[in-house]
Amino acid sequence: MSEVLTAIATPRKVSTDAIAQQALAAEETETLRAAFAMDRLRRDNIDWVVTLFLAAVHAGALIAPFFFSWTGLATCLLFHWLTCSIGICLGYHRYLAHKSLKLRAPAKFMVLLAGSLSAEGSPLTWAATHRLHHQRSDQEGDPHSPLVGPWWSHVMWLFVRRNDFEQETLYRRYAPELIQDRMLLFFERAFVFLLWGQGLALVAIGALIGGWSMALSMLLWGMCVRMVIAYHSTWFVNSATHLWGYRNYDTRDESRNLWWVAILAYGEGWHNNHHAHPAVAPAGHRWWEVDITWWSIRVLRAVGLAYDVRDQIPRGRGTNEAVAA
Ligand SMILES: [Zn+2]
Ligand SMILES: [Zn+2]
Repeated sequence: MSEVLTAIATPRKVSTDAIAQQALAAEETETLRAAFAMDRLRRDNIDWVVTLFLAAVHAGALIAPFFFSWTGLATCLLFHWLTCSIGICLGYHRYLAHKSLKLRAPAKFMVLLAGSLSAEGSPLTWAATHRLHHQRSDQEGDPHSPLVGPWWSHVMWLFVRRNDFEQETLYRRYAPELIQDRMLLFFERAFVFLLWGQGLALVAIGALIGGWSMALSMLLWGMCVRMVIAYHSTWFVNSATHLWGYRNYDTRDESRNLWWVAILAYGEGWHNNHHAHPAVAPAGHRWWEVDITWWSIRVLRAVGLAYDVRDQIPRGRGTNEAVAA
């Protein structure tokens, strides 16, 4: 009799656990849906740190032409490539969010450092939010779909303040293995200090080589102009490439391939290719779909700093492969 009871009890326990897990998952989904919903953008719920920082950087970029120098422009271009292509496209996006490649420790440190200097937020927040985007793309719960509103997807979703519980839920659900990574946790804590350190270093170098006008030029061109161009390039991937362009793959979202975003965002504009096969490292799937970030990945692989690169472009129409978490 007791064996029968045990036999009955066991499946019931499993089923109770399964129900509890389903309920928890549903609760987390609802928490994240509410956290990224447009109605959260209210006057009493604005993230003033992010909003004022973005406003200040844009103001700096507007006055930068009055402090032009060739050194400032060169710094702008170099740091733009380093932070946007290497830091964001290669590091935060293809390496962290999608695990399209593996990196040896020195290369991992350098790309995470470059990502931290981009001023696009912490690596965990970036990667987890991006995984949420892939899972819910252009459906309810997508953090930045242009179907909600073009400006919402481009920038306004960043103005919303999200609380600690929502942040923890995002990490637990979409970056469970990343929060165990010690190097990542270092950058998670250090990225703000690295950002300010970068600004101070540019000012100091400028002052040393050309006095205060050069210091200002380095700050405005090396930080403000570079960041504004990089911001809008990244943001166009969220807005424009879900609105305009052509499709190679019949994905369930509205993702598109858009050549000018591919140029501005170092290959990320081939966004329909990417949504069809998110874990594939090259974003250009036709011979003429140029992907500058892919060139850097090939160089890292050639010198042995990158390995297990997922470079096989699958044939077929694409199925919105599950996010490689
Ligand atoms: Zn997308
Ligand atoms: Zn992606």
